Parts: sequence; C-alpha cells; structure tokens
Amino acid sequence: MMEHVRCAKCISCGREWEAKPDITTCPDCGGLLDIQYDYDTIARAVNRETMARRPERSMWRYLEYLPVRGMGSRPRLRVGWSPFYEAERLAKVLGLRKLYIKDDGINPTASLKDRASAMAVVKAEEAGAEIIACSSTGNAASSLAGNAAAAGFPTYIFVPSRAPKGKVSQLMIFGAHVISVQGSYEETFRLSQEAIERYGWYNRNAAINPYLMEGKKTVALEIAEQLDWQMTDYVALSVGDGCTIAGVWKGFCDLYATGMIDRLPRLISVQAEGCCPLNRAIATGEPWQPMEENTLADSIAVGVPRNADKALRAIRDSHGVVVNVSDEEILAAARLLGRTAGVFGEPAGVAGTAGVKKALELGLIPPDASVVSIVTGNGLKDTPNAIRAAGEPVTIRPDLDELLAVMERL
Ligand SMILES: *Cc1c(COP(=O)(O)O)cnc(C)c1O
Ligand SMILES: [Zn+2]
Repeated sequence: MMEHVRCAKCISCGREWEAKPDITTCPDCGGLLDIQYDYDTIARAVNRETMARRPERSMWRYLEYLPVRGMGSRPRLRVGWSPFYEAERLAKVLGLRKLYIKDDGINPTASLKDRASAMAVVKAEEAGAEIIACSSTGNAASSLAGNAAAAGFPTYIFVPSRAPKGKVSQLMIFGAHVISVQGSYEETFRLSQEAIERYGWYNRNAAINPYLMEGKKTVALEIAEQLDWQMTDYVALSVGDGCTIAGVWKGFCDLYATGMIDRLPRLISVQAEGCCPLNRAIATGEPWQPMEENTLADSIAVGVPRNADKALRAIRDSHGVVVNVSDEEILAAARLLGRTAGVFGEPAGVAGTAGVKKALELGLIPPDASVVSIVTGNGLKDTPNAIRAAGEPVTIRPDLDELLAVMERL
C-alpha cells in the first residue's frame, strides 16, 4: 500500500476496496470506484513553498496527490505543465473581467488525455501487464498509443470509424493495433470491453479505470499553481464521458482539503446542443438519458456518458453552471480563440470557450467574474473543421498585379 492512498471507494454502495493497480469497477455492485487519500499525510508532505521549489515540470510534479509509488521505470513522454495564458483581448471581446486559457492541446499527443494515458502506463507497469487496450472517440486512443509507445507497451485500440483522420494517423504512426469499428462510440466501447475481458489486457477505458481520472486531475493542480493558488470564480471545460470534469473537480477538492487553495471554483460544464445528456440531467433534475451523437465536436459526441455519476456529482457539488453550444458557436469560438489569443483548438477543445461566451450572453455568469477556460485538444487534429470555421485563403497566380488587386479585399 502507498501510505497516502487509503482505498478505492465505490461511489454507489460505499464499500471500500484495496487500491490494487488493476482494479476497475466495484466487485460487489459494479459501481464506479473513486481513489481516496489520506489528506493529512499529503498536507504534511507538501505546501505552497516546497511546491514552488520543485524542478519537475510535468504532471508528476504532484506525486503526493497521485495514486502511484513513483513514475515507473519505463521511458515516458513529457505530459502536463501545459501553457497558461491570461487572454486579455479575448476577455475584452467577450465583456468578461478576467479570462485565462489553459492550453492542454500542448501535450505530447496534443490533448488533455495524455494525462490519463501517462497514468495508465504507470499503473499497467505496476500491475505487471503486457498489453494495454482502450476504446475512444479519438484522443484517448492517440494518447494511449503515444505514451505506450514511449514506454514500450503494445496497444489494442478500438475507435468508431467516424474518428477524424488526424487522430487515426497518430495511432498508425505510434504503431497501435487499431480496430476501426463501423458503429457508434457506444458500440465501440462495448466491443472493447468484451475483448479486454477475453484477452486480459490492461484496461485504459477512463470511466472503468479509476486511476485515469487521477491523472486528469493534474490539470486542476497546475491551474491552481499557475494562478499562484488564487482560484478564479469559474473553470469552464467541455464534457463527453465526464471523466475530465470529474477529475478537474477532484483536483480542486484535493487542493482544498490539503490547504493549498482557500476556495473552490464553480465548474462550467459545456456540452454540444446535439449531444448533452449530462447537462440535460442537471437542467431538468431528472436522471440522465442517452442521446444521439449529433455534433461535429467528435471528442464530446458521447451519447451514453460512461462517467455520468461522478460528472453529475462534480457539477452539483461545485454549484456548477451548464451550458450547451451549437456547432456554429463551437466553430465561432475556434476562430475567436485563434484570432485573439493565438491558441488553436479542435472543436471539443474550444467548446469550453464557446460555453463561456454563451454563459455570459445568457446571464448565467456575471461579467465581473474571473474564469479559466481549458482548451482540451489541439486544432491540428481536425483540420477539416478548422477550415470550416475559418475558411480558405485567397489564391492567386505569382503576379504582382493580381496581388495588388486582392490586397484591396484583405
Ligand atoms: C475526451 C475529451 C473531452 C471530454 O472529456 P470526457 O472525460 O470524455 O468528458 C473534451 N475535449 C477533448 C479534446 C477530449 O479529447
Ligand atoms: Zn459498490
């Protein structure tokens, strides 16, 4: 046992289990497990000053908050410690007092999912596993493929056939065994679970494996430290399965429990209008219902969210705000972020920012608020939608007169 990790607790029945490296869901009731820490042990080991002196510039900077013995013995990619910007011009355009952008597209495989995959690789080593598998709408897959390639683990990866080419190309380059499934993400997920059970692979399906959320929470730890531990009023991000938002909330709660931050932010949960089962559940107060996957933001096109319970709890506990954005609003946010902040996000990556804009317009958050918007994935992963957002350039022959003619229009 690691002394700062107490157990893995079932969020449905409350039973506590030993936090073995290969646990998945509750053996009794099948509920999701949540890693529990001994906060006194952590608080004795770290404070703001000792943290400031740490040389490690990656997610492993926060080892005391993570359910691992160490970083493992295998080579790894440099995940985390992504850029954090104050976006003054964008804030002005939106009419918001303070806006920060956490650009998690700047990770080795260009999405926040690297944080979960780096964790999966370390836990797979601890578990003595030989092969890692997952299903994914794209980024979990490409991040697993990359992080596993660095560490020397073979991977089996199931993606729905609609996954963008940019992400599939990453899988192929990283040498994953890729199974492209002609079906929805839901069907892809189910097939991967059956295969994982049959072959005994290490399971990197984020909702099923409680450690992955612990990797994702490092984005919250970084945001807090990059704000010099002075939290903003809100943190906005896009939501699909719900593992990221649950992880972000866990990260802030861990910091609060160990005295690193004095107050908790409210979460802004952003989903696509065409696929918003979690936000709809919050808005109506009813249990969540599956929805169709009608959005171009493929990374959050999740009709059957796998981490619904933890995500809903995170939104409610934070007194969160829910807001749904249309595909047009997502594309507009991609343009706006690019033009005012120089940050290039994929559609799901910029959906959080689209949500901030819309929440302001709807009066869900006040203009004098301070907000962090997490950009969860890089725009180069999905260039067709970037071109849809921003258009094609003017094209001319190599001729000065033609240039002069078009300069009038530029
Ligand atoms: C996975 C992903 C999300 C959503 O994370 P969930 O854990 O599925 O809610 C958002 N944006 C990007 C770019 C992603 O890859
Ligand atoms: Zn249980």
